[in-house]
Amino acid sequence: MSRAGRVPARKETTGCRKRESVFTVNAYAATSATEPLAPTTIERRDLGPDDVAIDIKFSGICHSDIHTARSEWGPTTYPIVVGHEIAGVVREVGSAVTKFAVGDRVGVGCMVDSCRECDNCRKGLEQYCLKGNIGTYGGVGRDGEPTQGGYAQAIVVTEDFVLRIPDGIELDAAAPLLCAGITTYSPLRHWNAGPGRRVAVIGLGGLGHMAVKLAHAMGAEVTVLSQSLKKREDGLRLGADHYHATSDEATFTDLAGSFDLIVNTVSAAIDLDAYLGLLAVDGTLVNVGAPEDPLSVRAFSLIPARRSFAGSMIGGIAETQEMLDFCAEHGLGAEIEVIPAEKINEAYERVLASDVRYRFVIDASTF
Ligand code: NAP
Ligand code: ZN
Ligand code: ZN
Repeated sequence: MSRAGRVPARKETTGCRKRESVFTVNAYAATSATEPLAPTTIERRDLGPDDVAIDIKFSGICHSDIHTARSEWGPTTYPIVVGHEIAGVVREVGSAVTKFAVGDRVGVGCMVDSCRECDNCRKGLEQYCLKGNIGTYGGVGRDGEPTQGGYAQAIVVTEDFVLRIPDGIELDAAAPLLCAGITTYSPLRHWNAGPGRRVAVIGLGGLGHMAVKLAHAMGAEVTVLSQSLKKREDGLRLGADHYHATSDEATFTDLAGSFDLIVNTVSAAIDLDAYLGLLAVDGTLVNVGAPEDPLSVRAFSLIPARRSFAGSMIGGIAETQEMLDFCAEHGLGAEIEVIPAEKINEAYERVLASDVRYRFVIDASTF
């Protein structure tokens, strides 16, 4: 097949060190903050003893991919292949691999390694590794090369950072769980979402719709706070008990002081003070949305009701497996629209316009 227009593959040598037996796969890369993503080829390292080679079947589009592709979080090193919601099947395992076998259904999320020795890694909080976890893209892999993510046909990952996708979840609906699922599951668990707890979710996008499903499955009373009522039917079907438009000022007076936990999934800076006013005494607003612009908080939005403002980043490896098993047990997966690779740029525009129901997932056979 002609791959006209492909971005040139990276060089085969790094400094004076010749790279050995790598394999080449088709991928889609961002080449600058302003150019559309385009087809390319990348190299994957050859299998080390503890490595698993995975044929990617589906790759979710997270808003973080867009922030990164467009250098919104600071300068990105190009070309970069983003994608950290990876679902696939094991094609080969290294000689020392014990947890996985060829043919297993597996996933990879936002990290591919960490130091494994620091206090946080030892506690299963690899995402907060004191030396910095190694991102699935934009990090430096054990071969010394920049890590490249899931918009590709295959990936090689050390077995300790590979997750098992339970049989009950289709691979396409499972892919977004590897980021959107765990990023919302972890704070919901940490702040005890469950029976008797009133949880609000700001933004019904990729993360938000998983937050609604998960909080409902945990037994919490769930409220969606969306910009409009356009997605109300969906929100209620996904498990919300209540749905309010934040464009309606009455929402902020009617619901004042009424939530124990608010999960903010919005990708842009919002008026946090207005939302903090919705927390009950001892309530927490946890930010998982990661806008490029700073967020500001007035001290008097917190002080009068002993409120907390917090952040949370993805989840550890064991917790991610726990989340996948929880989803299988409760029959949960993401609501997805599967697209071919050539529609990635169009999908990005739709995500930016909040026109996503509720996660785009790329069919990896089209890379
Ligand atoms: P998404 O699918 O685009 O969802 C974001 C939702 O926020 C939109 O659907 C929209 O919901 C709402 N929204 C967007 N712009 C808004 C605005 N200007 N004002 C108010 N509401 C707005 O994005 P996502 O993939 O869920 O990711 C959300 C954010 O989380 C991104 O910043 C991403 O980088 C970040 N993230 C963080 C982590 C972490 O570990 N903390 C992990 C993954 C992603 P409505 O239409 O319902 O209003
Ligand atoms: Zn993500
Ligand atoms: Zn560590």
